[in-house]
This record gives sequence, C-alpha cells and structure tokens, in this order.
Amino acid sequence: MKVLKFGGTSVGSSTNINKVISILENYSKKDAIICVVSAVGGITDRLLKAGELANNKDQAYTKEFEAIQNSHFSIITELVPKQNKTILSHVENMLQDLKNLLDGIYLINELSPKTSDKLVSFGELLSSYIIAETLKSRSLNAQLKNSQELVVTNSNFTKAEVEYDTTNKNIKDYFSTANQQITILPGFVSKSKLGEITTLGRGGSDFTAAIVAAALQVEQLEIWTDVSGMFTANPKLVKQAFPIDKISYQEAMELSHFGAKVLYPPTVQPVLNLNIPIHIKNTLKPEETGTVISKNASSGKSPIKGISHISNIALLTLEGSGMIGIPGFSKRLFETLAQEKINIVLITQASSEHSICLGVETKDAAIAKEAIDTVFENEISLHKIEPLVVEKDLSIIALVGDNMKSHQGISGKMFSALGKNNINIRAIAQGASEKNISAVIADKDVKKALNTLHERFFEENTKQLNVFITGVGNVGEKLIDQIQQQYAFLKKNLKIDVRIVGMANSKKMIFNEKGIDLTNWATQFHHAETSSLQGFLDKVIALNLRNSIFVDITASEAVSKLYADYLKNSIAVVACNKIACSSMYENYKKLQDLSLKYNAPFLYETNVGAGLPIISTLKNLVASGDKVVSIQAVLSGSLNFVFNNFNDKKNFHDTVKQAQFEGYTEPDPRIDLSGIDVARKILILARENGGKIEIEDIENDSFLTKANLESGSVDDFYETLIADEPHFQKLYASAKEKNCQLKYVAEYNKGKAKVGLKEIPEGHPFYNLEGKDNIVMFYTQRYPEQPLIVKGAGAGADVTASGLFADIIQIANK
Ligand code: ADP
Ligand code: ASP
Ligand code: MG
Repeated sequence: MKVLKFGGTSVGSSTNINKVISILENYSKKDAIICVVSAVGGITDRLLKAGELANNKDQAYTKEFEAIQNSHFSIITELVPKQNKTILSHVENMLQDLKNLLDGIYLINELSPKTSDKLVSFGELLSSYIIAETLKSRSLNAQLKNSQELVVTNSNFTKAEVEYDTTNKNIKDYFSTANQQITILPGFVSKSKLGEITTLGRGGSDFTAAIVAAALQVEQLEIWTDVSGMFTANPKLVKQAFPIDKISYQEAMELSHFGAKVLYPPTVQPVLNLNIPIHIKNTLKPEETGTVISKNASSGKSPIKGISHISNIALLTLEGSGMIGIPGFSKRLFETLAQEKINIVLITQASSEHSICLGVETKDAAIAKEAIDTVFENEISLHKIEPLVVEKDLSIIALVGDNMKSHQGISGKMFSALGKNNINIRAIAQGASEKNISAVIADKDVKKALNTLHERFFEENTKQLNVFITGVGNVGEKLIDQIQQQYAFLKKNLKIDVRIVGMANSKKMIFNEKGIDLTNWATQFHHAETSSLQGFLDKVIALNLRNSIFVDITASEAVSKLYADYLKNSIAVVACNKIACSSMYENYKKLQDLSLKYNAPFLYETNVGAGLPIISTLKNLVASGDKVVSIQAVLSGSLNFVFNNFNDKKNFHDTVKQAQFEGYTEPDPRIDLSGIDVARKILILARENGGKIEIEDIENDSFLTKANLESGSVDDFYETLIADEPHFQKLYASAKEKNCQLKYVAEYNKGKAKVGLKEIPEGHPFYNLEGKDNIVMFYTQRYPEQPLIVKGAGAGADVTASGLFADIIQIANK
C-alpha cells in the first residue's frame, strides 16, 4: 500500500486533475492506494479572505464566494462533461452550506478560530468529493472517506494537535475492511474529541498523508506537488536552485522548519521512527526523479544541503545589566511567551548574559512586547532591564546540512559572502546540533542573500555579474556587442555569468532583472521609460542584486557625482568618464575610501590610454613595493594624430579639422589642444602613485597662442588657428631643423607633473609613435634605466570598450 498526497496546484485545474488521475490509474494497477488531496489551489486563501471580508461587514465577501463557486463548477463540467447532475447538485448543497456560514459571519460579525476552521475545511471537502466522483465516473474503483472521521485532535483550532492513539486506531480499523483500489481522503481537515471541526495548520495536507502512512506502516509516502522535489533553495526566488536527490529526515525538517514550504514541517515526525521514506514528486513532470527523504540519505559533495528562509520575523531584544542577577529570568521570559502561545523561531544570547534576542513571527510581536514588559514591570522600573525592543521587517535565512559539523569555516564563508554584498546581519544562531546556521536580515535583502549564498555554496564556480550601463553611445554599443559575443565563453571557461540588467541614455532607460535580451536591446528603448540619473540609481538600489556594477560611459559631471551613492550601496563603479578621478583630490580620495569601506570596486582603467593596462600596471608596481621615480608619457591620441599629420605642406587649421572630422578629438577640440585632457590623465597617474595633487598644480606649457586660448567659441578658435598659422609653422620648422618630431608629452617627476609640446629626437621611444597610439614609460627603482613601457592604441571605441570589459571581468575575480 502507498500513500500519495497531491497539493493545491496538482488539483488546481481540470488539466492538472487529469494528470493526477493518470498517475493514480497507473499506481492502482499494482496496489491499493490512498490518495490525500488538498483544496483546489488558492481556495484556502480565498475562503479566509471571504471570512475576513464578511467579518468586517464588507459585502465583497459574496464576490469571493462566487469566485470559489465558479472555479469548482467549471472544474466539474470540464472533468465530467456528461451526466454530472448529481455531482453538481451535491456540490451546490455544500456551497450553500458555505454561503450560509459566510452570511452568518457577516451577520454576527464574528470569526473565531473555531469558525475559521469550519470555513476552510470546505476547501478539502469539496476537492476530495469532486475527485472521487470523477474517478468513479471513469469506472475506477474509488471511494471517498472523510478524514474528519479518522484524524482526531485536541481543540487547538487552526493548528490542532493529533491524538495519535485514537487516530491510528480509526485509520487501521477503516482500512482493515476497506476494499476499494483507490481511497480519496481530504487532507488538512480533522475533528476534535468533542466533534468540533479542526484543521492541522496551513499546508497541513502533507501532515494528513504522513499520519495515514504511519498508522498503516506503508512502504512509502509520496508528496506530489508543483516542483520536482525539495530544492537547494526556493526555486521561485533562486533561479539556479536544483532538486536535492536524497536528504535526511533531519535536514528536511530543518529546511521546512526554516521556510521550505514544499514540505509542511510536522510531516516528517510520524514517519521518522518507522523509517518510511518520503518521496517528493512533481505532478506536472512525473518523469523527473524528485527527492527522497529518508534516514540514510547519502551526504553528497557539499556539507550544505539547502538554504531556506522565513519572512515576517520580528526580533525582540531584552537587555539590561541587571539580567544576570534576576533569578529564573529565562524561565519567566519563555513561560510568558508560551502562555501567549507565541512560537519562538530563533534564540541568541550574548555570552555576557546582558542581552537575549528572540525571533518571533511579526504578528506576535505586539502581544509579546506587552506581555514581557508587564512580567518584568518591576525590574524595568528599577532600571535593571530595559523595556523590550522590537524590530520588524526582518527575515531569517538558514543554511542546512547534517555534515556541517565536520566542516570548518562554513559560517565564515556565509558571513563574508553576505558582507561582501552589503547584507547587514542583525542576529546569528547556530543550532546545537550544528545542522543549521541561521541569520536574521532585513526582509528586503532576502532574495539577494539567498542568491548570494546559493552562488557561494552550490555554484562555487559560477559568479553572476549584474551590469548597469549609463551612456549607450559609440563605446557603449561596442561594449554591449563584446559582452554578447563573449557571454558563452565567459560562462563556460571563466564561470562568469555577465548579465546587463539596466541600460540608459540621456532620454530613456530599460531594465530586466533576468538580463536584457542583447539581440534587440536598441529596439527595446522605443518602449522604454524616461530616464533620469537619480531614477536609474534608485532602480539599481531597489533591484538589490548581488555583484551589481554601475558602468559610466558618459563624459558627464552629473553622472560622476553619483558614484559615491553607488559605492555606499556596495555597487561597484566602472568608469571611462575621467571627471571624478580628476576632480578635487578630496573627492577622488573619498571615492577610494568608500570603495574600501563598502567592498565595492571602483575601476577606471580607461581613464588613461583607453584599453591599455596603464593604471593597473602602475597599481601593481606600487602594491608590490616598487617606487616610481618618474613617468614619461604621450597620452593624447588626438594630439598625436595632429602632430603626425601636420607639416609645412599642410596647414595646422586643416589638420585639426581633419582630426575632428575623423573623430579623434572631443567635440570641442580646445579640450585636447589646450592640454587639459592630458593634464587630467597625468593627474590620475600621479594620484595612483600616491601624489596628493590638484589639476592646478600641473604645469601646462601650452603651445597655443594667447588668441587661440582666449577664443570664445569653437568657430572663433578655428579662425584664430588660420591667423596664427605662422606660429605653428615655426614650431614645425624648429623641430625639423633638429631632425625631431613634435610630441605632446606628460611628465611626472618627484611628485611634480607637467604637460607640454616637446621636440623628440630620433631614437627616442616617442619618436616613431604612430597614429593615435599612446605610450607610457615608468622609471622605477626596479626599472631604473630601461623603463617599463606600455604602448599601443590609446583611443577608439573598440579599445575603450574592451578596457571597460576588462574592468568588469576583474570584479568577478574579487
Ligand atoms: P502544494 O500545494 O503542492 O502543497 P506548496 O505550495 O505547499 O505546494 O509547496 C511547493 C512550493 O514550495 C514550491 O512551488 C516552491 O515555491 C516552494 N518552496 C519553497 N522552498 C522550496 C524548496 N527548498 N524546494 C522546493 N520548493 C520550495
Ligand atoms: N489547503 C490547505 C492550505 O492551503 C492545506 C494544504 O494545502 O496543505 O494550507
Ligand atoms: Mg503544501
């Protein structure tokens, strides 16, 4: 004999009930079976809602009633399209009783736990009747038995405790004479010794099945639900979660106690001592293996079996220096809560015994506070202890595994993973059995915490990066292309899952928590919401995803001003925008400090030399203890282009125009030609080397004339270039005469930096620098004569995008 239980979704529609029937048909060919059913999915909630509305004198309860009625009627007509009159009229009678009960609640304004149990029992009574009749109509040898006649409880309404002696006897007696192949039993419902209707607690149909399985000592209990087993974490919240093949009774109990709803916690208890395995299966995918819960579950590779959570927790803290001296303190505290029937979910006590922290369900917090403050009234008035402090909007997350006790460092891993993602932990408890470690965190962090821990313990190798891009122009497009192209490679070879979750330009922004489809991202902008810098930031914070990275591909000062807010929320910042790093030193330093404090990388390799590894090389030199003595560099692709093309046959004005036309200069070419851009770059390098310098400290020996520098607009500037052509020809002639090349050079020497045009003699490493290339020479203690040279294309959308990409990937390795 086997006991099978089908949950709400499994019996939630005629299509699913047909699936249930075909499973029953198959099983019953071999053996007699007992089938416990839940109410049709969602009906228990609806019944409770209808009751609440009626109790609140809200006529809308009739709407709920009608919805309940309609869903049952349509299931019947779909399941038994012909000759269904008797079934329909029986169900109509039951529904009439339900309606009368609701009307009664409405009239007398009363909904006691006792009435509530009567009300919700309709769910299972209806579903079990309909399923049994459907089976009969299809000529299956089935019989309905009301489990209220079998399961006897005390009168603890809404979560009654089972009287096992009578219950076991009833079940054995009934089944000793029953000779049908299939017995249908409603789950969840029961009766007290006094004959009152009781229920076994929300989710209690699982428990009914376990009680029956244990009473009859069957070989297996099967729980059929809407997921393929007990998962490593709630699959609705953690996409990467997977079903656990085998798990011990203790582990399953811990997981369900800490919120894995797939199994009602008390279910394990009746079958545990009898060693009856529980098999969790998916009604919608019966071919999948599911989970076996048994005594000797193999341990598997990981010491952690699963991660679960309970929401709506309130933390009660009782504190005070006088606590140690108060006799029977804990006894009084726990007794008070027990008297109020308040379930304690978690306990931690500081070893100094100055404070004790309890986790309870939020709904119990107010009663707990009142009761505890009253019991300790005297001690509170004497200031021996403080009034109880209640914190709400909390959740408990728990790591569960039998083998945790033989592995060191699990809590370390758990808390460092949470810490890195800025998840604040309010309290910690480790069960004495060392089968679970639990932590109290804010409700809003639950999803992020579950995913972070799942990644840490079950996907050791894969790290998900959640990228948010602002500025999807030229460079942004290239970056998106590169990420799209490399996605599969990164996932397979480097175990990095890079997803772009948000994108914005100055007008619109789009988001997709699961990752934006990169094949048509541009068209998604058509229907996108209007963007704002603050709106983008708010959304990134609200999504609260682990390993979030904000990428700034703008040249906007306003965007750079928000880096601090991103970093403070533990969101990494990757920028090619150099405004932040070249702003006031104080601001640069603040961002570095925030990055350290909040464990959020701040990377800007592309600020100098686009994709060339200039900043990282310098950082490595400094970190490894080398001393940088001087830096000599050509850092402007635009100026390099201009001076490589300018000569005595081509005037300066036309050369600059060409550079601008070909996209090598800023829209305002004065930013490049005045040397400001180069000055910002050497400033950043100087700062990376530990220099506390400001942009004003950099000597800028401009090669432009006074008229060029004072021009009011870009057009005026070009005019002055024409007028001053002889000046530029003179610069050229002087260099040519010495067989030199003109290069715009940035230098850093003993804490001082300067930029300016230089005549570079043949043989010098700068002499042959082509096109828009950059070069940096680091003279250090380890490289005193032959400098460490980084050279290559220092501008262009493609190389800048790849520099940004490299920064993003670097974050995965943190
Ligand atoms: P039923 O109505 O079949 O009893 P439940 O809704 O009570 O189903 O339980 C199944 C649900 O439990 C799943 O759909 C899933 O959302 C939730 N769940 C939470 N944690 C877990 C977990 N660790 N493994 C599987 N399911 C889980
Ligand atoms: N129908 C009840 C509930 O929704 C019992 C169950 O489905 O297990 O809680
Ligand atoms: Mg359930």
